[in-house]
Amino acid sequence: MITVPEAAPARAAPEPATLHGLHLLAHYGSELVCEIDARQHLVWISPSVARLTGLTAPALQGRPLADLIHINDRNRLATLLAQGEAANAQDSLRLLRPDSNPVWVECRVEPITAPAPIDPIVQGEPGAPAPATRRVCVLRDITEHRQIEDGLARLARTDTLTGLPNRLRLTERIDASILRASRQDHGFALAMFDLDHFKYVNDTLGHDAGDELLCAVGARLADVLRDTDVLARWGGDEFVLLFGRESNAAVAQHRIEACIAALGAPFLVRGRVVHIGASAGIAMYPEDGTNQTELMRNADLAMYRAKSHGPSTVVRFSADLAERARQRLSIENDLHAALAATAAGHSPFALRYQPIIDSDGLAMSGVEALVRWFKSEPDERSTQDAPDAAARPATMRMIGPDLFIPIAEESGLIVPLGSWVLDEACRFRRSLSDAGQVDDDFYVSVNVSARQFQSGDFAELIRGALARHGLAAHQLQIEVTESAIMHNPERAAATMQAIRALGVPIAIDDFGTGFSSLAYLARFPANGLKIDKSFVRAMDSGAGMAIVEATVAIANALNMKVTAEGVETAAQRDALVECGSQRLQGYLFDKPLTSDELLQRLAKN
Ligand code: C2E
Ligand code: CA
Ligand code: CA
Repeated sequence: MITVPEAAPARAAPEPATLHGLHLLAHYGSELVCEIDARQHLVWISPSVARLTGLTAPALQGRPLADLIHINDRNRLATLLAQGEAANAQDSLRLLRPDSNPVWVECRVEPITAPAPIDPIVQGEPGAPAPATRRVCVLRDITEHRQIEDGLARLARTDTLTGLPNRLRLTERIDASILRASRQDHGFALAMFDLDHFKYVNDTLGHDAGDELLCAVGARLADVLRDTDVLARWGGDEFVLLFGRESNAAVAQHRIEACIAALGAPFLVRGRVVHIGASAGIAMYPEDGTNQTELMRNADLAMYRAKSHGPSTVVRFSADLAERARQRLSIENDLHAALAATAAGHSPFALRYQPIIDSDGLAMSGVEALVRWFKSEPDERSTQDAPDAAARPATMRMIGPDLFIPIAEESGLIVPLGSWVLDEACRFRRSLSDAGQVDDDFYVSVNVSARQFQSGDFAELIRGALARHGLAAHQLQIEVTESAIMHNPERAAATMQAIRALGVPIAIDDFGTGFSSLAYLARFPANGLKIDKSFVRAMDSGAGMAIVEATVAIANALNMKVTAEGVETAAQRDALVECGSQRLQGYLFDKPLTSDELLQRLAKN
């Protein structure tokens, strides 16, 4: 229940109803009103101050207004009062309270121009104009409003899944670190993390398990960090670590390695033990970037490099990485142009054909199609003679697939390029039949990348190519890598079924370089596998030999034909024949040949 206090005795005698109203306003109005003098001391303050601050009006009279305000907001109050001399001014400030819960008020300061009212404290004649130096401050409680605003602001800066700071919060923290570092003349480190096998977990155990794993990763990293570090989720399976006070690159690297080591221990997700790792890229302020965008981009570049180096790697950004990124972009642009030319019927791509030899009798049983790019480049030597780029004669440079296939894959350009390769390989196989050069069983083996394999109806594309060139299904073979299958195992299994249904054989390429096991691969309907050349090279050692022998034995037990790649010596050939590899391929027999060279080679047989 509200009790109305006695009205203070008035010096003059206004209408009783008005006085009563003023008292109600002073005690129960939601706003806190005070009058300050030229020194900014309180001349009068409404009694409602007790409700907001716990202090009573009489205790405050004569004290500076600043005594009411939170110490951190006093500079802002001073600014506000300085403005207020001239015009109306306002700002949000915190009131000082005995407990620590802040009360936020919106403080409005106005010069008093109205005639002074009858007041028990203000001395002077009723109705006389107020001295110009006095001002009124109206303070409105906006705590609830602020709390909602703060809550929203926090939400907008938090990753909903992990509860970690999100991109927005991180970028603010980076900006703040840059400001502090530039003032205090020190550096700091920024690291971008990417989990190594996250996609695999997501695909095999489901998205809920993936989410659980991300939360567990966040919690584990948070455990090894210091108070001054910021760990944020950048998106997907990428995290960013800001070491706000780490100006030494070697120390930063060491600490990030410790984080990666922490992630190396197994996780328990939905009752399953899951092993993941992480790769990270580091950028240092100010050496590797002086603004947030540069730092993030360069940490990202370094992270990509770390990923390509293999699992659990940390790479510091370098200028050389930026140069490679620039080259990569330029290759991507040129690839676009090359594919446009291909679509217009004058392709700069060509296929080479590397013979595959049957162990039994050492005759050629088929070829692998390998793509090359003939890129025209301005002739640097004639630059001085012809400064106009268009007038400069161009030279053709052959570019190997290792340089452009990964870029084509990342940019999605592999899909049109792969279609062209498939069509061209089928066309060539048809021409061999037409020339009567090969047996009916002779096959051309075509490499297919993950992106192609997962795209739309890949089996339909194959069926179309076979029909267009009048080929039998067994005259074509598809090579797909383990990693392309593991990219999305369910989808891969379905695509493989569809290709098998056409009668086209499938070989698993680069076998042994992925992280899958033979037992896992047995679930996929492949007809053969190609042992990677690194294993063939390792055969010279006893252990390498044992791996190849075991792989051949298990593959044969699963009814898969084995092709050994990269056979370079007679000793390797003999050992492979000995342990039962059905097919051999490598420089010992032939390098990849042009179509004319292959025709000559076939004619010689
Ligand atoms: P790959 O499928 O493992 O192809 C075999 C690679 O090993 C070829 O390199 C070949 O020239 C090389 N090679 C063959 N015999 C030997 C040997 O005795 N010793 C050594 N050291 N190397 C040997 P290439 O032509 O540069 O192709 C590289 C990779 O590019 C291929 O590896 C394949 O993954 C990819 N690629 C090539 N053509 C295509 C294509 O049309 N589509 C796709 N998606 N990828 C392709
Ligand atoms: Ca291959
Ligand atoms: Ca291979």
